[in-house]
Amino acid sequence: MSKIAIITGGASGLGLATASRLAQEGVNISVVDVNEEAGAKAVEQLKGQGVDAIFVKADVSKSADVKNYVDKTVEHFGTIDYFFNNAGISGSGKFFLDTDIEEIEKIVEINLFGALYGVRYVAEVMLKNGGGAIVNTSSSAGVTGQDSVVTYSATKHAIVGITKSMVAEYAKDGLRVNAIAPGPTETPMVKEFYEANPKMKENATSGIPQKRLGTPEEVAELVTFLLTSNANYINGEVIRIDGGFTNTK
Ligand code: NAD
Repeated sequence: MSKIAIITGGASGLGLATASRLAQEGVNISVVDVNEEAGAKAVEQLKGQGVDAIFVKADVSKSADVKNYVDKTVEHFGTIDYFFNNAGISGSGKFFLDTDIEEIEKIVEINLFGALYGVRYVAEVMLKNGGGAIVNTSSSAGVTGQDSVVTYSATKHAIVGITKSMVAEYAKDGLRVNAIAPGPTETPMVKEFYEANPKMKENATSGIPQKRLGTPEEVAELVTFLLTSNANYINGEVIRIDGGFTNTK
C-alpha cells in the first residue's frame, strides 16, 4: 500500500523538493500551502511522477485551516503516514530593536503556532491509526544564536522543544518525531532574503566550512530518510544539515 504524506510549504523550496523525492518512493502527497498557483503546479509535477497528489490551500497560522488540511487529506487518502511540518517565513533580517511588533507576531504565528497546530491535528490521526513519522523544520538558527533573526530563532528553538516533548509523550504509541536544522539553503525564501541583504550572503557563505549554501535536494534526502521506515529507531533527534556551519560556532 502506498504511504501518504502531508507537506506544508509544499509548493516551494524544501517542501517541494521533499515532495518530489518522496514521490520517487511512491508516496502519495497532500501539498499544503498558502500559494494556490504554486500549489497547483506542484500537484501537476507530482502526478507527472506517477503518484496521487492533492493541493489544500491553507494559512498554517490559522487553526481552522490546519484542521481543514488534515480533514481533506484523510477524506481523500484515508490516513496520514508521514508529515513534513515545514511551512515558515524568515522575516526581514532587521536587528531586533528595529523590528516592528506586527513582524514579530507574524513570524511567531506562522512558524510556531503553525507548527504546533500541525502536530496537534496530524498526530491525532496518526495515533488513531497506529502511528506515523513527523519531521519538523527547525534551522541552524534553532540550535545556535544568530544576529538579525531573533524572532525567527526563537520560533526555530521552539520547534526543537515540540520535537523532543512530543517524543516524550507519544513515542510509546508509535509516533516518531524528528527535526531538521538546515543551514542556509538555496531556496526561493533564502534567495529573496539575500537579495534584500547581500552582505549577509557573503557572511553566510564564508562562515560555512564547505564554502557553499546547501541545496533543497540535499535536505529532501535527509527528510525522506527520517520519514521512511529506514529510520525506525531514530526519535527526538535534531539533525543539522549545514556544511559544518553550526559546528564552528
Ligand atoms: P520557501 O519560501 O521556498 O518555501 C516556503 C513555502 O511555505 C512557500 O511555498 C510559501 O508559500 C509557504 N508558506 C509561507 N507562509 C505560509 C503559511 N502561512 N501557510 C502555508 N504556507 C506558507 O522557503 P524554504 O526555504 O523552503 O523554507 C521552508 C522551511 O525551511 C521554513 O520553515 C524555513 O524557515 C526553513 N529553513 C529554511 C532554510 C533555508 O536556508 N532555505 C534554512 C533553515 C530553515
